[in-house]
Amino acid sequence: MGRAHAVVIGAGIAGLLNARVLADHFERVTVIEKDTLPDHPAHRWGTPQDAHLHGLLLRGRQVVEQLVPGFTDDLIAHGAPTIDLAADLAIRSPFGWGRRARSDLRTVSASRILVERVIRRRVATRSTITIRDRTQVVALAGTSTRIAAVRVRPGFTENAIEELPVDLVVDATGRGSRSSHWLRDLGCPPPPEQTLNSRVGYASRLYEIPAQHCATWKLCLLQTTPTGPLRGAALMPIEHNRWVVTLIGIGPHRPTRREGDFLPFARSLPSPIVAEALHNAEPLTDIAISTATSNHRRHPDRVAQRPDNLLVTGDALCSFNPVYAQGMTAAATCAALLGDCLDRHDADGSRSRISSHYYRRVRPLLANCWTLATTADCGYPDGPPPTPRQRITRRYLDRVLLAGTHDFPVQLAFLRVLNMLRPPASLLEPAVVARVLRNHHPTADAIPSHPPGDRSGPRH
Ligand SMILES: Cc1cc2nc3c(=O)[nH]c(=O)nc-3n(C[C@H](O)[C@H](O)[C@H](O)COP(=O)(O)OP(=O)(O)OC[C@H]3O[C@@H](n4cnc5c(N)ncnc54)[C@H](O)[C@@H]3O)c2cc1C
Repeated sequence: MGRAHAVVIGAGIAGLLNARVLADHFERVTVIEKDTLPDHPAHRWGTPQDAHLHGLLLRGRQVVEQLVPGFTDDLIAHGAPTIDLAADLAIRSPFGWGRRARSDLRTVSASRILVERVIRRRVATRSTITIRDRTQVVALAGTSTRIAAVRVRPGFTENAIEELPVDLVVDATGRGSRSSHWLRDLGCPPPPEQTLNSRVGYASRLYEIPAQHCATWKLCLLQTTPTGPLRGAALMPIEHNRWVVTLIGIGPHRPTRREGDFLPFARSLPSPIVAEALHNAEPLTDIAISTATSNHRRHPDRVAQRPDNLLVTGDALCSFNPVYAQGMTAAATCAALLGDCLDRHDADGSRSRISSHYYRRVRPLLANCWTLATTADCGYPDGPPPTPRQRITRRYLDRVLLAGTHDFPVQLAFLRVLNMLRPPASLLEPAVVARVLRNHHPTADAIPSHPPGDRSGPRH
């Protein structure tokens, strides 16, 4: 394969990070984006999820920082607050409030809009990367074993189709990816797909943080689980003294976009802390809803006859129930792994079977994320019943959460796994298991309404 031109379809977070990686290996990289890309951090139609709370896991921030040095400082310069994910996060599971204390889990809390804008600005400064917005990819040209060109429709009104010759194509078009259809037109069978939809619904809006707000936490998470509660919420501080507040409901409990439902839903949660925080807070936006929350995975690597120079990544390859906040981190890590594959191929002088190498490298990472999300999700109403293995895993995880309400080292071990800093198997290390087994403590009935240290009642 030549090294001349790589095309990335989609200028979301996955697309931008892949372009950044490809720029080390190709003479030219073109990112094609159908949306108009704003100069400032702003909502766009192509990424409807950007109105919702987007937690960037610690592992994700580290990987983005490696790929785009200066990323964290840029977020802070734009007003994103710094937080300690063990000390500042009030997290309520059905077993109680997770223990909090100062830690090294320090990060920055920003809107998805700002995260994307900061990455885009830094990626666009590379002289070999061109970002073409208002341009939609409509088809691929070539054969079932090699893509020769990408067919694009520039502008919103023009019907003229342009062909861009390519050496490598990366599909980063998100959940709605059409590359399986495009490949079918080239004679390739569609890749097998897997879906687990727990029918999670989000309703989100931004609020100004009231001056009188005072709590021992900076962000909070009221978790949902298959055995209840089926309503939860998350509240996170972002740039410019704002909160992004997301209400979460399962099945019939999915929140609506009706103005009159938002606060009553918040008041119906197992803890009043979100409703109390919003009591005097000024809403800054309308309510946005999303039900695009299924766990969905495509397996292009299981199709024998496929073009070797087409790679699928980000949500187009694997998307997760967003309550586990894995999407951006998985996208960033897959981009970094593509960089490793290309380094190897450059070193041994060939790019043959780059796609097999790439999918082999990303498979374990995605399998971990997939197992975590689908194990936690199985058993929700309308979902499949848990397998015996999932049942055992979940029972142990429940014990971890219970122990974490009293034992900070256990909670910290859990938070490290949640932030993808450690593998899930680290919760089975003898030191953790011993602490988990030692901790038998109160049941759900005894959970206080507020996290330890917070005084109850709305602040006026
Ligand atoms: C409600 C919700 C909440 C979420 N919360 C979190 C969270 O807390 N933490 C987290 O890490 N992740 C979260 N995610 C997931 C996260 O948004 C994604 O995993 C992440 O942004 C990576 O997405 P992507 O770049 O692969 O795709 P996208 O962000 O969907 O970007 C795809 C891009 O491709 C463009 N495009 C599509 N088709 C074409 C075409 N034919 N031609 C040209 N351009 C095209 C689109 O306009 C868009 O810009 C959430 C997702 C949802 C739905």
